[in-house]
Amino acid sequence: MTIRAALRRDTFAPQRRRMVERLAKAGLCDARVLAALETVPRHQLLPEALQVQAYTDTALPIGDGQTISAPGIVGLMTAALALRSEDRVLEIGTGSGYQSAVLSRLAAQVISVERLPGLAARARRSLDTLGVANVVVHLGDGSLGRPADAPFDAILVTAGAPAIPPPLLEQLAPGGRLVAPIGTREEQRLFRVRRTERGLVRENLGRCRFVDLVGANGWAA
Ligand code: SAH
Repeated sequence: MTIRAALRRDTFAPQRRRMVERLAKAGLCDARVLAALETVPRHQLLPEALQVQAYTDTALPIGDGQTISAPGIVGLMTAALALRSEDRVLEIGTGSGYQSAVLSRLAAQVISVERLPGLAARARRSLDTLGVANVVVHLGDGSLGRPADAPFDAILVTAGAPAIPPPLLEQLAPGGRLVAPIGTREEQRLFRVRRTERGLVRENLGRCRFVDLVGANGWAA
């Protein structure tokens, strides 16, 4: 890292702390998730011109028509997964790698799938630069899950789908949690599904808006 880059990184720390304080005030109360958000330098996952906006609670464009999710929703979804340090997590939609980096702080291993080659390659490089060693990025259609690596303790879909992709439910371990935005292309509800001894339990966590999940169990390209 150049000295200039190191200085720039340091100068963002107070902004990042204030962002985390605002999210806590707004109701995000999971201390481990807040701590994880405070350690991930979101600006380093953004194009240079957008770095000054890194610590506002908004989604921002990352190229290829995709977005980095807003920190508040990243925190909410991460908290909903109730991660334990030994968990293996499947993430669908690597995008910038921001959500993957947050998950990596709270779980043993993160397997992330991205369908766009340019974003997958960039996210891999960014995660390497951040020294994140427990995230593997795969190129492919995440709406099929990753049968070879299943089952997963937690599954997070970070793109909106018309319905929960059936393979993801099949790949959820006993006691596992899945969080996914489900609805129309314009608006979704964030759902959490838990695999309990008595079957799948589904909860609606509220409204949200994500870019499309494009694939066999998502929307057509
Ligand atoms: N988690 C990301 C947000 C990414 S936006 C972040 O923190 O930056 C959603 C991402 O899902 C986009 O990069 C999009 O290309 C990807 N995506 C859409 N459909 C997909 C699919 N079927 N499989 C894998 N990735 C998909």
